[in-house]
Formats: sequence, structure tokens, C-alpha cells
Amino acid sequence: MGKLDGKVAIITGGSGGIGKAAAKLFAEEGGRVLLVDLDADALESAVAEIGADQAACVVADVTDPEQTRAYVAGAVEKFGGVDIALLNAGIEGTIKPITEYETEMFDKVIAVNVRGVFLGLKYVMPAISNRGGGSIVITSSTAGIRGTTGMSAYITSKHAVIGLMRTAALEGAESNIRVNTVNPAPIDTRMMTSIEEQRGLPAGDRSNRPMAQALPLQRYGEPEEVARVMLFLGSEDSSFCTGGVYMVDGGVSAGVRPA
Ligand code: NAD
Repeated sequence: MGKLDGKVAIITGGSGGIGKAAAKLFAEEGGRVLLVDLDADALESAVAEIGADQAACVVADVTDPEQTRAYVAGAVEKFGGVDIALLNAGIEGTIKPITEYETEMFDKVIAVNVRGVFLGLKYVMPAISNRGGGSIVITSSTAGIRGTTGMSAYITSKHAVIGLMRTAALEGAESNIRVNTVNPAPIDTRMMTSIEEQRGLPAGDRSNRPMAQALPLQRYGEPEEVARVMLFLGSEDSSFCTGGVYMVDGGVSAGVRPA
């Protein structure tokens, strides 16, 4: 018996590194998944990997209210309802000091990472309520609990979704909707490679990449390690957990180890 037998999950950013890992794990646990992302080919290949009996996809831009309403309606139409949503789509933006940061890029990062989560909550909460409750997991970051240089828009956005999560947890409680964030440290996906390239850092494997040395566990995480925490929060294993911030960060939020 799977942890998600009979459950339906929407996963935004569903063809990306963390989203696809979560989709595969959720399907292995008996769930059916609707993947939402921008690129039709990537979505279709993710659906093919998982199997069309358990996975479907919708091309949608999470910043658009009508497309958000449509992806939620699509999950209800295809699978009969929604029990779980992973609001996970995100972009890193550029890496520049605030004084040089492009205003348009700041707005774009906030639109995807914050407005996209707000719209997801707005349209998915009624659908989950119709099923008698369920779970929403928002992908924040260690960037949601502390700062770094050069990433003002991203840092702002990942702090902001913790506020959205706390509000939604309080507003959703009477409908039995639990809402939490997962907060990864560097995970080995396209996004981290982009951040390293923009910072001019050399490539390497997951334990000798430059930013890995700053983590107590001295390596990057894998998307599957985030997916397992998403499974915990999405499933009844976390039935008394709501309004929480769940670090998946190799210990980096614990503090610093003297060299
Ligand atoms: P990724 O780039 O592989 O995946 C992000 C996905 O979001 C992509 O498939 C992208 O197409 C999609 N997306 C972007 N804009 C969209 C839009 N407007 N509408 C719909 N989909 C859109 O990166 P990832 O590492 O898998 O990131 C997933 C989430 O995890 C993001 O929210 C990211 O901020 C967060 N995160 C990642 C790391 C990391 O180190 N990789 C660390 C902490 C948090």
C-alpha cells in the first residue's frame, strides 16, 4: 500500500529538477500527479517517464490567474479532485547587487516566486476544501530564512512565501488544509548550475562544488532528498503539521562550524 493511494497532487515546476523528483516519488507511492510547467516537450517527457496512467500535464504560466484557475480545473477534470499541491515553480533571477539589479528582473522573480504561489493558493484551496482537506507544500529555501549577496529578488521572494504559507495555514485550518514550506539549501539542479555560473564558480561534482564546503554535510542535496520531505508533508504522516518551515539543508541553518 502506498502513502498516497487515491490521492491527487498538482505539482508546479513539475518538469524541473525538484518537481519531477517529487512527481516520480508521489506516483511510486500510489498518487496521481498533474504536472504544471512552461515547456510542453519537457512536461510530456516527464509524463512518459512516470506513466500516463498516473501522470498528466498542463502547460501554464503560474503568474497568470486564468492559467492557474485552468490548471486546477484540469486536475479536477482529469483526476476527479485535488488533495495535495506542491507550489514549487521558481526562478533564480540574475545575480547583482541591489544598486545594479534590473527592476524588471526584480518584478519577474517576484511574479513567479510570490504571485505564482499566491495564485496557486487562491485557486487550489477551494478545490482541496471540496475533498474535505489536504496538504499544500510551498518550496521556499534557506534563502527564505537568511540573506546572501546579489540575490535580492530571490531572497525577498523566498522570505515572502513563508508569510503566505503562515497566512494560508491559519485560513485553511478550518477546512482541514495543512500548509507548510520546505526550505532546501543547494540542490543539484539546473537552478544551482545557473547560480554557480552567474557567480563565476567552477563546476564540480556534488561534494567538491565550491558552495558545498559551506554546508555542515559538505555536499549539495539531491532532488530526491527534497522530494522525500515533500512526501512526508503531503501525506498523512504529517497529519498534525501545519504552518511549519521544514529545512532540507545539510545543516546550514544550524550555524557555522569553525574551520
Ligand atoms: P528548476 O529550474 O529545475 O525547476 C524550476 C521549474 O519551474 C522549471 O521547470 C521551470 O520551467 C518552472 N517555472 C519557472 N517559471 C515558471 C512559470 N512562470 N510558470 C510555470 N513554471 C515555471 O529548479 P529546481 O531547483 O527544481 O527549483 C524548484 C524550486 O526549488 C524553486 O522554487 C526553487 O526556488 C526552489 N529551490 C531550489 C534550490 C536549489 O538549490 N536547486 C534550493 C532552494 C529552493
